[in-house]
Amino acid sequence: MISDNLNGVYQKITEACVKAKRQPSDVTLVAVTKSVDAVAARQLVENGVINLAENRVDKLLEKQHDLKDQTAIKWHLIGNLQRRKVKDIINQIDYFHALDSLRLAQEIEKRAETEIKCFVEVNISGEASKHGFSPEEVLNFVNELKTFQKVKVIGLMTMAPLTATEAEIRVIFKQLKKLQTTVQDLEIEQAPCSELSMGMSNDFGIAIEEGSTFIRVGRMLFGAM
Ligand SMILES: *Cc1c(COP(=O)(O)O)cnc(C)c1O
Repeated sequence: MISDNLNGVYQKITEACVKAKRQPSDVTLVAVTKSVDAVAARQLVENGVINLAENRVDKLLEKQHDLKDQTAIKWHLIGNLQRRKVKDIINQIDYFHALDSLRLAQEIEKRAETEIKCFVEVNISGEASKHGFSPEEVLNFVNELKTFQKVKVIGLMTMAPLTATEAEIRVIFKQLKKLQTTVQDLEIEQAPCSELSMGMSNDFGIAIEEGSTFIRVGRMLFGAM
C-alpha cells in the first residue's frame, strides 16, 4: 500500500530530524513518480503529497495532463534538460533541479515568463557519467547570473554515487552543504541559495542529517515498480 510506504518515509524523516535537531516541516518530500503511472501518483496526492517529480520532459507533461484536476500539485523537473526542450516545459513547472550549464540558464532566461526556482546541479563526486558543475565552477556560474531576471537559484542539488558507502555519501552531502552556504553568503540577488536538494530512497536519512531541505524519493514510496 502506498499509504504504508508513505508512513515509512515520514517516520524516517522524523527520525533523521530528531537526530539532527531539525523540524520535519523544514524538509520537503518530493515524490519521484517516474516509474509509476498517474493512478499511483494520484493515490499519493490523495494522501497529501503535493510535490511530484519526473526526470523527463515528456513524462512530466503526460502526468500533468492526467492529473490536471489536482491543482495543488507542485511539479518538479529533476532530470537533465536539453536546451531545445526548455520552451515546452519551463512555464509548466514549479521547480527545476538540474541546472547544469550557463547556456541552459540563458535559454531558460529567454523562454521563462516568470521567475523559475532552480537548483544548480553539482557533481561533487566527480563521476564522469554525472551531469552538473564541478564545485569550483559553481561560484563563477552564480556570478554570471547577476544580469539575469528569470533564473533564480534557490539552492544546490547533487546525487551521491549508488555504490558509495554511508561515510562517502556523508562526505559528499557535507561538501554540498558547505558550498551552499558559501554561495548564500555572496548575497547575489538571483542566487539566494538557501536550499539543498539531496537524498533519495537509499540515503535521504543521511541527507537530512546533513541539512537537506528537499528529498527526492521514488522507490521507497512505490516499491520496486
Ligand atoms: C529517480 C530519481 C530519484 C529517486 O530515486 P529513488 O532511488 O527511486 O528514490 C531522485 N533523483 C533523481 C534525479 C532521480 O532521477
